[in-house]
Amino acid sequence: MSKSKASEAVRVVVRCRPFSRKEEMTDCENILEVDAKLGQIIIRNPKAPPDEPMKVFTFDSVYGWNSNQSDVYDDAVRPLVESVLQGFNGTIFAYGQTGTGKTYTMQGVSNDPDRRGVIPSSFEHIFTHISRTKNQKYLVRSSYLEIYQEEIRDLLCKDNNKKLELKESPDFGVYVKDLSSVVTKNATEIEHVMSIGNQSRSVGFTNMNERSSRSHAIFVITVECSELGPDGEDHIRVGKLNMVDLAGSERQSKTGAKGKRLKEAAKINLSLSALGNVISALVDGKSTHVPYRDSKLTRLLQDSLGGNAKTVMIATVGPSHKNHNESLATLRYACRAK
Ligand code: ADP
Ligand code: MG
Repeated sequence: MSKSKASEAVRVVVRCRPFSRKEEMTDCENILEVDAKLGQIIIRNPKAPPDEPMKVFTFDSVYGWNSNQSDVYDDAVRPLVESVLQGFNGTIFAYGQTGTGKTYTMQGVSNDPDRRGVIPSSFEHIFTHISRTKNQKYLVRSSYLEIYQEEIRDLLCKDNNKKLELKESPDFGVYVKDLSSVVTKNATEIEHVMSIGNQSRSVGFTNMNERSSRSHAIFVITVECSELGPDGEDHIRVGKLNMVDLAGSERQSKTGAKGKRLKEAAKINLSLSALGNVISALVDGKSTHVPYRDSKLTRLLQDSLGGNAKTVMIATVGPSHKNHNESLATLRYACRAK
């Protein structure tokens, strides 16, 4: 069966993290089995009767607990970044329950080159490419923002409590008004930009995990390339790369939320389901209406989802029986995006 053009532009992969120290020390059972060759992940319901069949999901790729950061980058991300260097837009999402490895996959461990995540690996990739090309001039700009409670904040601005507005113009499409955009000349400079944004993300919340589980962080790199054409004119092409560490996918009601917290939970669920709806409408290929306008996240990424843009969804899951329901929900969400 041939896939539609749109579905080729969307790749969905799943990464399973290893048991944590704590899980190892308590009586956690492994409920996931990964078949990397077939791209399958098998999940067992620990509460089901023994004769109930296990559920099998198939994805473009699956990565087991012992996968390296570079396995994920080379297989799932590198082709997308290549296309950004050719002037197309692309978006990478990390989706999953809090604690399953979204930030590990996107950021990795700083100061450990072997455990560098998708974002710093893309820096290296982009600037290595630039240093090897002749006859072309590049301009690399980056922005780092956060969507929390449907409000946009600039992680690179000193006054990061200011709420920024989404605007739309016939020339630029949808954009964030007043968002900082920093020009960088090499990997070290852009890494510095990332670490400033990360620091800004951790301010104001007592607990980093609490914040990251409720907000989406988006690192945006715009690569502009100009080349002198045979007509003596400069030809410019621009590609945009969005790397998104999504809010935790866990059902927020589980935490016994009330009042303000409950409203916040509803907004998080709204933007994640809006994203799911957009991606499944794109993959389906038959939908005449793609509901970009249903959340800030999908509006903001509109020009990088669908059309000529490529999308990679990295769904992350944990292996423990205690997370069975959330892991199953993540696999179902990811499956819808295929
Ligand atoms: P999330 O961002 O989804 O909440 P984290 O990325 O913070 O989750 O991961 C939770 C913990 O698990 C961290 O201590 C992280 O280092 C570890 N971890 C996650 N994924 C992996 C992996 N693939 N290999 C090794 N450790 C991992
Ligand atoms: Mg995180």
